Amino acid sequence: MRERRTAEPYKIKTVEPLAMLDENERKEALEKAGYNTFLLNSQDVYIDLLTDSGTNAMSDKQWSALMMGDEAYAGSKSWYKLEEAVREIYGYKYVLPTHQGRGAENLLSQMKVNPGDYVPGNMYFTTTRAHQEMNGGTFVDVIIDEAHDSQVELDFKGNVDLDKLKRLIDEVGADKIPYVCLAVTVNMAGGQPVSMKNMRDVYELCQQHGIDVMYDATRCVENAYFIQEREAGYADVPVKKILKEMFSYSDGCTMSGKKDCLVNIGGFLAMNDEDLYTRSRELVVVYEGMPTYGGMAGRDMEAMAQGIYESVDDNYIKHRIHQVRYLGDQLIEAGIPIVRPVGGHAIFLDAREFLPHLEQEQFASQALAAALYLDSGVRSMERGIVSAGRNKETGEHNRPKLEMVRLTIPRRVYTDNHMDVVADSVISLYEKRDQIQGLKMDYEPPTLRFFNARFSPLSGNDLIK
Ligand SMILES: *Cc1c(COP(=O)(O)O)cnc(C)c1O
Repeated sequence: MRERRTAEPYKIKTVEPLAMLDENERKEALEKAGYNTFLLNSQDVYIDLLTDSGTNAMSDKQWSALMMGDEAYAGSKSWYKLEEAVREIYGYKYVLPTHQGRGAENLLSQMKVNPGDYVPGNMYFTTTRAHQEMNGGTFVDVIIDEAHDSQVELDFKGNVDLDKLKRLIDEVGADKIPYVCLAVTVNMAGGQPVSMKNMRDVYELCQQHGIDVMYDATRCVENAYFIQEREAGYADVPVKKILKEMFSYSDGCTMSGKKDCLVNIGGFLAMNDEDLYTRSRELVVVYEGMPTYGGMAGRDMEAMAQGIYESVDDNYIKHRIHQVRYLGDQLIEAGIPIVRPVGGHAIFLDAREFLPHLEQEQFASQALAAALYLDSGVRSMERGIVSAGRNKETGEHNRPKLEMVRLTIPRRVYTDNHMDVVADSVISLYEKRDQIQGLKMDYEPPTLRFFNARFSPLSGNDLIK
């Protein structure tokens, strides 16, 4: 019998026409951007899979909520709505608004990380690690080894290796570990989830040693869906309830509202400890704004409160995860090397396997992202040696095991037909992969270099010979 198809659990009320440049125009745009997809103008992009950060489509209810925004400088009623939404859905006692996720990371790192400290985490995230290091801390990766292998099929590839964490505690002592940063899901591992059991185990171990567990909750709803889908005992539990249990195994979280809260800007820091809250309130006014807006407009907070409730709708999150998988399955079927299993928010092309003729210093991932834009106007992002930056002591490139190109799917923005167009382009590049050449870096910024670095093809003008 024919398999029954499914479709988006929403219909379209407003449309935004897309740019469709021809190949010469794309080539010109790419050269102007220094072969860095971050430096392309969005008006030159057809399907924008650079990031799912702040690129969410809001619902009609969110757009109407904007009109309800209370723009009072202090005590805005929109803040109290947002605070209530976070308390109800996430379960923390105290919440502070920030302009986006890194605002919360800054506050947390400033309060808790001291020079000589170690901050264990399940793989690094760029801005998270940058804040830890700016405060004198050293990030320590305690994710399971399998997470660094793009081909190992595991249900919960974002899990913490408890032995690694125990070893670190033994080596440096619990007083040198201000908190464990647990990302749910793990962006840099390909959007891989953490199991409920692992969250429980990490929390138990940390409690034994008096170490706080702070979640990077940015993609927590996606993580909750994977638990519903894969972990024994959760198949019939609503995502909303799973989420609550997840957060019960932590002391607080940083949140980028630009991802799972279904808005375009905003974030928060949440916690259960009153003392930490009091100190955070003092810092938030220095860096973000009053504790009742923290860098957001009243209307932003209204939209985010509404987005938080919509994000835990089981139909929404199911389609979200399945749309990503729909693209991934087409690529797998065509033999394209991608990170397995497909994660929550993106497809990660394995650039080492895709372009085996290129060395890591020839920036294979960057070259592949550029080639994809050239082929079809699809914008993706490098996640490899460029993103990993340099070692702060030796000045050498950090050399991540994974060299990837990330195709990130914005929430509720594109249809499954757009996914077909993307699949066709990647497959066509794979067929002529030996013609794609490497890049050299012509300009390297000192921090977070991937945003502004400029490149050019290693030899000759044509990226694809
Ligand atoms: C996006 C992101 C952040 C940072 O949030 P911003 O809102 O971009 O500052 C932190 N952690 C993870 C996992 C993210 O995906």
